[in-house]
Amino acid sequence: MFSEEQNGFVESAADMLYGLIHARYILTTKGMAAMLEKYMNVDFGRCPRVYCCGQPCLPIGQSDIPWASTVKIYCPRCEDICYPCSKYQGDRDGAYFGSTFPHLFLMTYGHLKLQIATFPEFSVSRSRRDLM
Ligand SMILES: [Zn+2]
Repeated sequence: MFSEEQNGFVESAADMLYGLIHARYILTTKGMAAMLEKYMNVDFGRCPRVYCCGQPCLPIGQSDIPWASTVKIYCPRCEDICYPCSKYQGDRDGAYFGSTFPHLFLMTYGHLKLQIATFPEFSVSRSRRDLM
């Protein structure tokens, strides 16, 4: 029988193990299909930038190492990351999604990738932002 402290440690380790398995799963064909459905339902939120016109985003981790950072959202239109609006999403570890997921997702579903060249006003905005 575990003590209260040991139970907490086991639950924490199980949570991290589940999250790391999740990060691997979403890179598989079945995982990508499940994430496509969530993306189409806009479960991960939208880009807050005006020129992105409510573009649905994808979850991304800035590091594959647990406890390094929380999950962020990646916008396929402006190709930038930002904090998710939902506090529930923002508390999750970024390693549970990994740094590879959105790029592999957009390579797999290439038709979802928007070309910035089709939005010339956006390019001006982006270069202005980069100067600041
Ligand atoms: Zn955007």
